[in-house]
Amino acid sequence: MKLPIQKLRNIGIMAHIDAGKTTVTERILFYTGISHKIGEVHNGEAVMDWMSDEQERGITITSAVTSCMWKNNVIQIIDTPGHVDFTIEVERSLRVLDGAVCVFCGVGGVEPQSETVWRQANKYKVPRIAFVNKMDRIGADFFKVAKEIKEKLKATPIIMQLPVGMEENFNSIIDLISMKQLFWEEKGSGLNIIEKEIEEEHLGNAHQYRNTLLETLADFDDKIMEDYLAEKEIEVSAIKEAIRKCVQNFDLVPVFCGSALKNKGVQPLLDAIVDFLPSPLEIGQMSGIVPGDDKKILFTPKDSSLLALVFKVSMIEGRKISFVRVYSGSFDEGGTVYNVSLGKKEKVARIFKMHANKKERIKEAKKGDIVGVMGLKLSSTGDTLGSEQEPILLEKISSYEPVISIAIEPKTISDQEKLNEVIEKFIIEDPTLKIRTDEDTGQTILSGMGELHLEVIISRMLKEFKTNVNIGKPQVVFRETIEKSSKASVVFDKDINGKKHYAKVSLTLSPAKRGEGISFNFKLKDDTTPENFIQAVKNGVNDAFGSGSIMGYPVVDIEVTILDMEFNENSSELAFSVASNMAVKEALPLGLPFHLEPIMSVEIFVPEKFIGDILGDINSKGGKIENVETKVDMQVVKAILPLSKMFGYSTTVRSLSQGRGSFVMSFLKFDKE
Ligand code: GDP
Repeated sequence: MKLPIQKLRNIGIMAHIDAGKTTVTERILFYTGISHKIGEVHNGEAVMDWMSDEQERGITITSAVTSCMWKNNVIQIIDTPGHVDFTIEVERSLRVLDGAVCVFCGVGGVEPQSETVWRQANKYKVPRIAFVNKMDRIGADFFKVAKEIKEKLKATPIIMQLPVGMEENFNSIIDLISMKQLFWEEKGSGLNIIEKEIEEEHLGNAHQYRNTLLETLADFDDKIMEDYLAEKEIEVSAIKEAIRKCVQNFDLVPVFCGSALKNKGVQPLLDAIVDFLPSPLEIGQMSGIVPGDDKKILFTPKDSSLLALVFKVSMIEGRKISFVRVYSGSFDEGGTVYNVSLGKKEKVARIFKMHANKKERIKEAKKGDIVGVMGLKLSSTGDTLGSEQEPILLEKISSYEPVISIAIEPKTISDQEKLNEVIEKFIIEDPTLKIRTDEDTGQTILSGMGELHLEVIISRMLKEFKTNVNIGKPQVVFRETIEKSSKASVVFDKDINGKKHYAKVSLTLSPAKRGEGISFNFKLKDDTTPENFIQAVKNGVNDAFGSGSIMGYPVVDIEVTILDMEFNENSSELAFSVASNMAVKEALPLGLPFHLEPIMSVEIFVPEKFIGDILGDINSKGGKIENVETKVDMQVVKAILPLSKMFGYSTTVRSLSQGRGSFVMSFLKFDKE
């Protein structure tokens, strides 16, 4: 069935771990008819288990995106990584969403992790509605959570419902717009809602909260203000329209409540997704980068040309599927797309719409769509697909520096094969993961974005793929550079397969400024040196810098001056490449090489009373405090620290702040400590 794009919602469900994201998603799939039975997380039969179950029967489920229908609207739920420490992963998925439901625990309220997710959603301008879950639990307090949304998240909550009955007596919800009391029939897992007039004893309270709702709304909407002051009856549709605008302008966050586990409150949440979160037509300007230029630009995608983002790549049944969000334009099965990030064209073999338990083959992907694409051999997560004539990059991907590595060793020879297979799968799915073999020990070294990143990979390796491996301790990944200039001259003159190869290369290596990478300077006496030999020298040098002279880490921040390239009739690219490679290997150890380590930019969020301990700890680690800022009841410390001092830092922050603190960390540069 073809639905107008106005009826499409691309949303994410964001939550602090344990707030109930899985249970809410599970109920959504049940009430929208996607799944026919409710599995409980605590019985070990919810989505994840249900997935492997389905997989055994040969049906593929992908958690990247799940599509369901609600009252003639399509809601596509895009998976957001469960753990907020995966900053890049979370941020990438946020960019693909047009709106989000933020699930809070009715008892725990706004926890540090929810604050992190909320800030990321602010950064990517994702309109939000809030769902306060677990209203059936002892200690649940709907109004306290709403207050925390205001105080901790600096948002303006607008209370849309009232829970009736406390804790285990929580039995119904008053809808403050329709002014009805909603009960859920226990039989049929809450599928049927019984709508009643509000019980007498709650009526006063309901009127009071409805007035507050209208007053809050009136602050942002003149028409509502007029009607409210004139005590006119305000149409339900007018209230909804005003709230919708406020949500999309980031003025208000409507707050709903329920208990996903007890099957209460989920259908009104689905209504709210449709009523208040934007369709793909309503997303505003986007930010991007013109390739070759580092400047950010704001732009509105043109309907006439393709703009899409590959936001996830998965190996499903041994085939690579790229998940793509289309922002404008379209592409067809059998056609080609231009990968702006790589500057290359690729062929689209097949396009699928992903439902919870099946893929549906479609001919065309168009604006607003989120599809699985088969055939994109080169594209990886984070790549932009777009116009070759007016290229725009949606995300700069060069900032992914793997900074932590871990050695893994198969326990037996037969495990080696399995290990290789599993690693290959991981690498395709996750471009931030790098692999190399240690030349001395023969060990496989995996490098990633952080401690937790590798921990999760290793745990999947052990649990999901049952790979038998020994794991080393996580190590910081270094770079190598030199302290003083050094020089070498190499003659390569050899017979290979009966053919002579000759080249002479003289070069100097000089230290460059931090962050400058490798640069070339050709000071050749002879300007007739063929261009392909010059390129061969560059290749040979770059290849040699791939592995340094101390421990084999890549070499950076060096200016290479080529002083002489001697050639004759036997000269070849091969000879120049080998000669320059050898010259670098000879010169490097003479330049007093040393290691540079990853230096991180860290933002720590803690309540004021713990700030002294946090600052003291940063100082004792040799960190540099850049800034301390007050944000409502939180202090935000910005500091620069070597990664080697940050192992286990989440535990440190938690223990120094009685569990209230959190932090985010990103790679800044390679430097001396
Ligand atoms: P996630 O980590 O956010 O995905 O949370 P889960 O959905 O896995 O839920 C965490 C735990 O809370 C599980 O044991 C659920 O059964 C339980 N839970 C989820 N929703 C509710 C609820 O509404 N009420 C109660 N009492 N428990 C809930």
